[in-house]
Amino acid sequence: MRISEIFYSIQGEGRLCGIPSVFIRTSGCNLRCVWCDTPYTSWRPEGKSWSISKIVSEVKKYPSRYIVITGGEPLLAPEIGALTGELKRDGAHITIETAATIFKPLVCDLISLSPKLANSTPWKRENGKFAQLHEKQRLNFTVIQKYLDSYDYQIKFVVERKADFDEIHHVLDKLENVDPARVLVMAQGTKKKQLSEKAKWIVELCKENGYGFTPRLQIELFGNRRGT
Ligand code: SF4
Repeated sequence: MRISEIFYSIQGEGRLCGIPSVFIRTSGCNLRCVWCDTPYTSWRPEGKSWSISKIVSEVKKYPSRYIVITGGEPLLAPEIGALTGELKRDGAHITIETAATIFKPLVCDLISLSPKLANSTPWKRENGKFAQLHEKQRLNFTVIQKYLDSYDYQIKFVVERKADFDEIHHVLDKLENVDPARVLVMAQGTKKKQLSEKAKWIVELCKENGYGFTPRLQIELFGNRRGT
């Protein structure tokens, strides 16, 4: 499968925030978020093809059993089911981070769903050539519901402005049996200052709605750098 990078850091977002984890970042994405913080996996995908055995032996070099498979969109990789099966045989705790537009059976301890809101659509970037496709694909309620019903989950929303909360309510209204405590809201931004300014009003809206707030600890600690 096409891998952009494998590295050891701490999980900076969500329910496992702070846990030392090995990150396997696949390359390639079916979406084109205008603010994508890993453009080297989406707008200009890079990376080499790795076999499953090579990935598994790379991961074993690090002293944590917590593995995060992220992207890009990891569900695009045909080998994703086989990789998760191999990692589980070795006793890994597996988180998969996905935009939840594609469903495949997986072995997974936590599915981290990140459905994309309207603030992600690239209406102007590259003359808007990906906008229609992105708009068509970014929310797939059937796929999201299937993950909710099948795995331990969290749903992360990236917000840019207060009005984005209206779209979060709309998305959640279309889904069944969502635990509000597993709904996590985080600020869009790749700079500490941006994040801390937005955090103030996001936290207040989370309190009003009973949603969780998640920081982006990796940016606070290391800045927007690869391998962190
Ligand atoms: S889904 Fe993720 S990897 Fe794909 S374009 Fe959006 S932010 Fe980037």
